[in-house]
Amino acid sequence: MQIQNAWCAIRHHLLSTNQCTPLKTLKSIHASMLRSHLDLNLFLSTHLISKYALLNSMNYAFAIFSSSNQTPDVFLWNVLIRGFADNGQPDRAISLYHQMRAVGVSPDNFTFPFVFKACANLRDVEEGEKIHADAAEFGYEFDIFVGNSAVSMYGKCGRFETAREVFDKMPERNVVSWSVMIAAYVESGCFEDAMGLFWRMLEERIRPNRVTILNLIPCVCRKNEADEIYRIVVENGLDSDICIRNALMGMYAKCRRVDIARIFFDGIPEKDLVSWSSMIEAYVQADLPIEGLELFKQMKLKRVRPDYVTGLSVVRVCSNLASLRQAKFAHGFIIRSLFNHKVVIETALVDLYVKCGSLEYARRVFDSMRERNLVSWSTMISGYGMHGRGKVALELFDWMKGSMDPDHITFVSLLSACSHAGLIAEGWQCFNSMIRDFHIMPRTEHYACMVDLLGRAGQLNEAREFIENMPIKPDAGVWGALLGACRIHSNVKLAELAAKSLFELDPENSGRYVLLSNIYMFSGKREEADKVWGLMKRRGVKKTAGHTVIEVKNKVYTFLVGDRSNPQTDLIYEELDRLMERIREEGYVPNTNFVLHDVEDEMKEKMLYVHSEKLAIVFGLLNSGPGSTIRIKKNLRVCGDCHTATKFISKVTGREIVVRDAHRFHHFNGGMCSCGDYW
Ligand code: ZN
Ligand code: ZN
Repeated sequence: MQIQNAWCAIRHHLLSTNQCTPLKTLKSIHASMLRSHLDLNLFLSTHLISKYALLNSMNYAFAIFSSSNQTPDVFLWNVLIRGFADNGQPDRAISLYHQMRAVGVSPDNFTFPFVFKACANLRDVEEGEKIHADAAEFGYEFDIFVGNSAVSMYGKCGRFETAREVFDKMPERNVVSWSVMIAAYVESGCFEDAMGLFWRMLEERIRPNRVTILNLIPCVCRKNEADEIYRIVVENGLDSDICIRNALMGMYAKCRRVDIARIFFDGIPEKDLVSWSSMIEAYVQADLPIEGLELFKQMKLKRVRPDYVTGLSVVRVCSNLASLRQAKFAHGFIIRSLFNHKVVIETALVDLYVKCGSLEYARRVFDSMRERNLVSWSTMISGYGMHGRGKVALELFDWMKGSMDPDHITFVSLLSACSHAGLIAEGWQCFNSMIRDFHIMPRTEHYACMVDLLGRAGQLNEAREFIENMPIKPDAGVWGALLGACRIHSNVKLAELAAKSLFELDPENSGRYVLLSNIYMFSGKREEADKVWGLMKRRGVKKTAGHTVIEVKNKVYTFLVGDRSNPQTDLIYEELDRLMERIREEGYVPNTNFVLHDVEDEMKEKMLYVHSEKLAIVFGLLNSGPGSTIRIKKNLRVCGDCHTATKFISKVTGREIVVRDAHRFHHFNGGMCSCGDYW
């Protein structure tokens, strides 16, 4: 009777549809079976094994399998093979498959997909091919499940041609086959092939499902494609799915249409953490930090708990703002949130403080870290470099060598620190030591730093020879460094040489055209400058609009060139006039060459030429306490005229002015700049 009852209980538990029988319950059922010497029939042992497999307990599953008196049938083998394939033991899944073949059990169309999955996880395409041959031998080659999983296996192993052959040969393709093939292309970065296949799938009148769409969305990077995908989503009634909506939002953000992304975001009724995080990250990518931060505050009001990914986004938002106050806000939030991945997030904080202009706070976070990785060290070293503190960067490097070996990134940080600080001899020492002592072969980034270093020292011909003797092909970074050096030393001939390569290697980068035209203008070659400008227009290269941000009394203000949108506009322009007059008396000579080409035609009225950094500085002077430091951030390289003017302004006002531009930090103090006029 007791045995009968036990039987019933066990049957009930094992056959219940609730797949989440806790492991404890499962083990006690198992134990009571052993105690009552119940002999499991094949049916029940199969269930017990699959329940163990679902709970990741493959050892128990295997124990029952091997102690069973029954001869396992193909179904039981499949359960076990699947269990191992799903639980991160693909090698055991494959060896079980061979065992099964050895005892004479024939595989079926359920066996092959699991074994293919195991091969894919091991990236063992040779084994996969053998098993694929078995599938053909047993007559399952054209089975839709077997075919789909073979396509996926070949795709994951990087054998796209074979995957495509199998796919093309399949007599029957439902939507899953297409999704699998699309996913195979996407995973390997063959976005165009994936898109092409998707359009063909639609031509064959196969309706995509949510998996197809989710697989495809990462390939979309153009607005018209995005609109088309959205249309298809709506047509197939998939637009109420939150995963799809989040993905559509990310898709538009990737197409640089953060405005449309926001419309999608606002339309999601039950926003999850992914919705919030993706939208904040979209603002980070679009360089709209104020909007990103605002959204983060709303997210907190809605009591959505941020995770470590959101944490990193928030740190990046704040670092785009270059505001020390926001940096401290992010720091506090990170400390309170107790995220995992401490090293990564603390390193991001070091980077944040560096970018907000406070080496002191950056170093404090760095010193308090219990654990540091190569990135942490490189971040701190390059931080000192960006602020022109090359000697401290070298000291830190010596300290680092005591605890871990530097890698190629550390050397980029170190070499650029030497070049920013003009440490010529030290730079050469580092470059040679990298090769000799650490056996790191220099990459183009290292060569670019050395060209910068030589250029800084005025050794332009040496820099040119250095490039000509490079054992690897110089890239845009290397030529860009030479062009930058030519600007400082007004060397038109070498600038033309560098620009020729740059316009081929990096034709979309408007900064290069502006730089070359400025070099021409500075040397009085107005016609040539116009030609460069014309070339840029013909090629459809858009100049990035310059803007400067400044934080005053807990609010962040953005200024564009000739901006008149600020409520204090009249006051700002009056004060600017007064200030310009004062620094002229001190010897400042305005250099209008820099502004001529920097504004659009309709804005070429004299008053509108004023660069955004000058407006931001005056606004800062008007709205901050006497003697306080003015911190601004410019999205482009600061121009020569603004640089000179800022030096004079720091002198006549007695203020320290910290300017972060696209390349480095300038600390202006008493009429001097920390960059030594080389930037
Ligand atoms: Zn300027
Ligand atoms: Zn400077």
